[in-house]
Amino acid sequence: MLLAAFSGVAQHKDIDQKVEALLAKMTLEEKVGQLNQYSGDNTVTGPLTINPNKEQEIKDGKIGSLLNIMGSRYTRQYQELAMKSRMKIPLLFGLDVIHGYKTTFPIPLAEAASWDLAAIELSARVAARESASSGIHWTFAPMVDISRDPRWGRIMEGAGEDTYLGSAIAYARVKGFQGKKLGDLDAVMACAKHFAAYGAAIGGRDYNSVEMSDRTLWETYLPPFKAALDAGAATFMNSFNDINGVPSTGNRHLQRDILKGQWKFTGFVVSDWTSINEMIAHGFSADKKDAAFAAITAGSDMDMESSAYRENLAQLVAEGKVPEAIVDDAVRRILRKKFELGLFDNPYRFSDEKRQQKELNNPENAKAAREVAAKSIVLLKNEKNILPLSKGTKTIAFIGPMVKPKRANHGFWAVDVKDIDSTYIVSQWEGLERKVGKNTKLLYARGCGFNDTSKAGFAEAIAVANQADVVILSIGEKHDMSGEAKSRSTINLPGVQEELVKELQKTGKPIVILINAGRPLVFDWTADNMPTIVYTWWLGSEAGNAIADVLFGDYNPSGKLPMTFPRNEGQIPIYYNHLNTGRPAKNEDDHIYVSAYIDLKNTPKFPFGFGLSYTTFAYADLKLSKTALKRSETLTASVTITNTGKVAGEEVVQLYLRDKVASIVRPVKELKGFQKIKLAPGESKTLTFTIDDNMLAFYHANLDFKSEAGQFDLMIGASSEDIRLKSGFELLESQGVNKDE
Ligand code: BGC
Repeated sequence: MLLAAFSGVAQHKDIDQKVEALLAKMTLEEKVGQLNQYSGDNTVTGPLTINPNKEQEIKDGKIGSLLNIMGSRYTRQYQELAMKSRMKIPLLFGLDVIHGYKTTFPIPLAEAASWDLAAIELSARVAARESASSGIHWTFAPMVDISRDPRWGRIMEGAGEDTYLGSAIAYARVKGFQGKKLGDLDAVMACAKHFAAYGAAIGGRDYNSVEMSDRTLWETYLPPFKAALDAGAATFMNSFNDINGVPSTGNRHLQRDILKGQWKFTGFVVSDWTSINEMIAHGFSADKKDAAFAAITAGSDMDMESSAYRENLAQLVAEGKVPEAIVDDAVRRILRKKFELGLFDNPYRFSDEKRQQKELNNPENAKAAREVAAKSIVLLKNEKNILPLSKGTKTIAFIGPMVKPKRANHGFWAVDVKDIDSTYIVSQWEGLERKVGKNTKLLYARGCGFNDTSKAGFAEAIAVANQADVVILSIGEKHDMSGEAKSRSTINLPGVQEELVKELQKTGKPIVILINAGRPLVFDWTADNMPTIVYTWWLGSEAGNAIADVLFGDYNPSGKLPMTFPRNEGQIPIYYNHLNTGRPAKNEDDHIYVSAYIDLKNTPKFPFGFGLSYTTFAYADLKLSKTALKRSETLTASVTITNTGKVAGEEVVQLYLRDKVASIVRPVKELKGFQKIKLAPGESKTLTFTIDDNMLAFYHANLDFKSEAGQFDLMIGASSEDIRLKSGFELLESQGVNKDE
């Protein structure tokens, strides 16, 4: 199946021999040098100026890797310095290529809404091709942190709340970045981050502590990392947070026992930015030397930006506190990757002006970005069938703070590739202009800024709306409102934007609301009162075109939410795969002696897996191949989906299971499969899902992963709440084994 074991990057014996031969010639200082990573000085246009201290350090072999250097010219210039070092060990160039390089794709959370693994892989592929041509060897992506807290700003970087979906996406992204194999000129090393449980920060506050049982860690947070590893992820990054009191960077259990031990990870672990140093502030390490000791012994191989290794490691070895073998192991892991990338054959092989020119101007990249962006859009409401808009519409008013700005569509973590060419963005206004014919008049008003407290622009917006047949109102978060260190306690539409919605509603005009954001927002009033809502996230370079494609029906929206949207912040954390309490509510208005708030419904505003289309789909004929299965057997569930509307469309058919009674209480439902299919009007397709014992197993208190015999519900639906067909089956006792085994 999807997550089937991947053979991993070929571990060539000859590479191991070369690594050993090289290692044998290196001094301890040179070895420590390989473990240091620093940010470069130049990410901007202009003459390359290298800090003289850095220049000397590179020549002295004291730096193994740089981040934030890009462009074939600059990377080449830095590499030339490394070639002046005694051992001539090439530098690794790393960069946060999170959702595209020159061509920006939707933010990862938006892409997750596509539930389209091929599209997600393609997005990573294009990002790899572009960045690799520009001298980059390594992206600090994918972020595979599961999070159930939309207050956390980094939610935008991951795949949302669900472990199954998140694992499938982690796998696809690693495949996309690393291509066929490391060493190919269109492949960059992936980095599964942040190991581990960074997305479970208490209160959704970035960098905050994590408290979690081992069972939850294994069941919910670790599987996407394992999937990334199975896809061959070359590197891992640890995380800023402490988990149950131990910072991840100094966490031996996570890095040595689980990752390098149990999972047999052969790549290397990079610390997060100064996370080694931060163990001092945590109160885990007394000083930098102590922090260096904790990190290296725990299995953090490369030190990003702390200088803790550079300043202390050689001495720690000399004092006999850190065995040199530990340093050797870290160096070996890094050197192996440099060999696999072919850098010892030609350290400049990725820094190639010509290829860069070609890759960064490849029109196929924009085409891919437009497709992926359209697939990421989620249609939340279309009650009056205002959408799709007619191309013959006479006057359209396009209003809102998101209409004209370009950068805002990129969202957080967009690369500013200034050396080469400014990154391009099709604004929402430009996209609409290109889409409509000459006979359509477009009117514009900003209405308000993203964060304005002033309503000064409302009058103009209302005036413009009054002249239009249709109003499109594009609102949401500015690109710097979700991202690292961008946690929000209130995740509303910032400023006076929702008031603008209310004022425009009074015009009585048909209004299409576009919500652009890096996270699920709370917009209860708008959700209840406005009939047409499209969630457009931050879609990247092709945002304008993709939005216009969806608004006019050239692409029929197919996205489904990868996260539960709360009614208000008080519900957080709210997620679909929760457990039942002993007092579950019978309906959403049931507040008497049940686990509920007296002032709020328990249900989400929009559930996980939800998204509409311009067509409708019927689900029928759920058939199970058997009603009982043994552990050694599989069971298939088939279902027939029919497009019952008038236009072609795609549907994400979701399979959920529930283990009804178990020795550890199981979630009310868990996603265990999905298929995205395209159907012409009237067309039907029969889909088959295969269920095996592995899908029924779960982590027990002692971390044994095994199933328990008994009854299971099987649900097939169009969202986690819109279950269309339900059946059940029994997992039979294995003969001669106790019930719980
Ligand atoms: C982030 C990482 C990122 C690194 C390098 C850190 O602040 O947590 O995700 O890769 O910076 O930019």
